[in-house]
Amino acid sequence: EVKRDPKVQVARLKLPILGEEQRIMELINENEFLIVAGETGSGKTTQIPQFLYEAGYAEKQMIAVTEPRRVATVAMSARVGHELALTSKEVSYLMRFEGNVTKDTKIKFMTDGVLLKEIQSDFLLSKYSVVIIDEAHERSVYTDILLGLLSRIVPLRRKRGSPLRLIIMSATLRVEDFTENTRLFKEPPPMIKIDSRQFPVTIHFNKNTYDNYLKESYKKAVKIHTRLPEGGILIFVTGQQEVNYLVRKLKASFPYKKDVDYSKLITKKPVAETDTALDSEPEDIESDDDEVEKEMKRAKKARRKAKKKAKELPKINLDDYDIPEDDGQADLVGHDDDSEGHLSDSDIEDDILAPEIKSCRQPLWVLPLFSMLSSSKQARVFEQPPIGARLCVVSTDVAETSLTIPAIKYVVDSGKKKMKVYDHTTGASAWRIVWTSQASAEQRAGRAGRTGPGHAYRLYSTAVFQHDCPSHHPPDLCRRPVDDLLLQMKCMGIDKVVNFPFPTAPDRLQLRLAEKRLEVLGILEKHVSKNKNDDEVLKVTSLGKAVSAFPLLPRYGKMLALSHQQNLLPYTIALVAALTVPEVMSGKPDSWPATGNTLLLGDPGILLRAVGAAEFAHVKGEEELFCAKYGLREKAVKEIRKIRKQLTSEINLSVSGVNVSVDPEMKPPEDSQARLLRQLLLSGLGDQVGRKIGLHEVKEGEDKRKYKYAYHCGELEEPVHLHSESILRKTIPEWVVYQELYETGGEEKRKMVMRNVAAIEPEWLPIYVPH
Ligand code: ADP
Ligand code: MG
Repeated sequence: EVKRDPKVQVARLKLPILGEEQRIMELINENEFLIVAGETGSGKTTQIPQFLYEAGYAEKQMIAVTEPRRVATVAMSARVGHELALTSKEVSYLMRFEGNVTKDTKIKFMTDGVLLKEIQSDFLLSKYSVVIIDEAHERSVYTDILLGLLSRIVPLRRKRGSPLRLIIMSATLRVEDFTENTRLFKEPPPMIKIDSRQFPVTIHFNKNTYDNYLKESYKKAVKIHTRLPEGGILIFVTGQQEVNYLVRKLKASFPYKKDVDYSKLITKKPVAETDTALDSEPEDIESDDDEVEKEMKRAKKARRKAKKKAKELPKINLDDYDIPEDDGQADLVGHDDDSEGHLSDSDIEDDILAPEIKSCRQPLWVLPLFSMLSSSKQARVFEQPPIGARLCVVSTDVAETSLTIPAIKYVVDSGKKKMKVYDHTTGASAWRIVWTSQASAEQRAGRAGRTGPGHAYRLYSTAVFQHDCPSHHPPDLCRRPVDDLLLQMKCMGIDKVVNFPFPTAPDRLQLRLAEKRLEVLGILEKHVSKNKNDDEVLKVTSLGKAVSAFPLLPRYGKMLALSHQQNLLPYTIALVAALTVPEVMSGKPDSWPATGNTLLLGDPGILLRAVGAAEFAHVKGEEELFCAKYGLREKAVKEIRKIRKQLTSEINLSVSGVNVSVDPEMKPPEDSQARLLRQLLLSGLGDQVGRKIGLHEVKEGEDKRKYKYAYHCGELEEPVHLHSESILRKTIPEWVVYQELYETGGEEKRKMVMRNVAAIEPEWLPIYVPH
């Protein structure tokens, strides 16, 4: 009954997974659990839901597919819908604050967090006949919890006579964490390995490792484009700013002009492929010698020498992946003010390459890819570049496994990724640029071999690979605070979270700290069990139940839950929405004249005002202009709008007698309201309070000027400073509450900074008083 487009059919038939359809379906029909392992691009995500659909699994119930990333959720539902020739009414997606699910939905792609939320209201997941956990190797927090829960739900469904299938899909072969975890599965579930059309990828290491990987990335891309045969280039760097920066530089070097006919250029590319690998380029090109002629001569000689050596270079076996680890959130939050210092133009300009750039007439079709990019712009990487131009995608680790970009032949791997690191005792977080895992490096390299033999250029040495790159990074669950999922699990009646069958159990201390934070916030409370031998357990309070209804971190849920007054609610909603979206403002707050009320509300007040004004600009159709003018990130503003809408309708539905709306002309809050809003902020952030360090407290001999904006925070010994752009630098209040604590300035200039700060009154502080 499926009527596929002939073009789609041709493309599908090229995927080896299609030859396995019968075997896969037999395994699914005969087993409740199945693990599907196969390399990225082998067709797991796009094809297996279609097999299930055609086998009738969507007739009475739905097929659920979870993704750890929003990018993939949208893209994959669209792709599968397209391949099945069905509409988005039938193949739909659902993620936090956004979706197109209908009552006719057959295949439902969703973020893993959304399915976890659904389990809270329907523990047996009775709407679904099969659940596919995709990208299980990413080890996202929600995926890990889902696996634990599903390992228990599946047997329950069997007992009820309505079996549920669980398919775990992973891009790698490192699936022992799932198969050999006897807490998770008593018997190891069956596994099927999907072969894929993987062409050999030659790995080239740099001889030396340079700090400036952006410069190296740029140079490598230039060399590939000017010297090597046709084929797309994929560059991996760490974050959004780096991506944009490289895109700009490469576009400027090889511009694409609309009115030029480039179609004749393609045939001019020389030489047989085997001779052109860039590792037969000498390493000494990386030297600072800027005399072109001398350089060329040396290059020729070294090229000959290196060609011999090339044979000895390590090769990876692409059928033997290890686990990759990447942080889906890597570019969700921007870094701190001065961490972009390495992006100066003079840094990257390289005279040696200038003649090559000049003499190359072929344009480079350069596209950015990162998770915060709008979906429509992300979709451009799937399209053919214009005739005559070479495709070049500059990406964060989004392109590592979630999305398959067609026709990539060259991968340039900086070897770096951005990782959020938490200090579990202080709660402070910092973004660090770290070496990728070896497994990630192999995933990245593999992207070059999907359509033909390829080359991967690692911009670091084999020594770095062996000694500095860990084989894989620990899963998210073991790295970040777990407050939200702890609350969700408690609401599901899982009292002893330490006993939960996690694929990899989080640190017990971390769980205990999260419990403590939730207890301080009044979301959990101690219960002494009747059985005296049992430990006391923390259970959810009635406030906690209200809080957990919101798809937000418990802190923000609490602010909403306590915001009873009708006329205050729209402000709380807007404020919470703005606080949960990272990196809203990139401009200086100076561009926002602060008036009485906003100043009273501190940085969150500025944020509130910006959001209100952006909404007004939006109804007038001037959002884009407005955002550019005031340094607001447009995608963030759109995201905030969605959250405001959803939270507003959720509150109207769930709290009787309440009927609020999103007012595009929201007036600034009145004094009394601003005061209440600050109290609400404190209610959610009550464990994050700071007291100004008086100058008399500064030790003899220390520079007092360094303490101008310094505060005591909690148990922290060292001073914490107001963010350099905090509006409160104008007033420096005695007591403050802050949204986030983080570290800046690298090793020498290390400094603790608080972000989104508001003044509070000391008499509001029943909960917590720092020393
Ligand atoms: P896996 O899940 O195993 O990584 P996918 O099912 O995502 O693989 O992709 C299978 C193939 O489908 C890829 O090799 C890619 O070429 C193609 N493909 C996936 N998404 C798209 C898309 N949006 N447009 C064109 N081709 C796509
Ligand atoms: Mg996939």
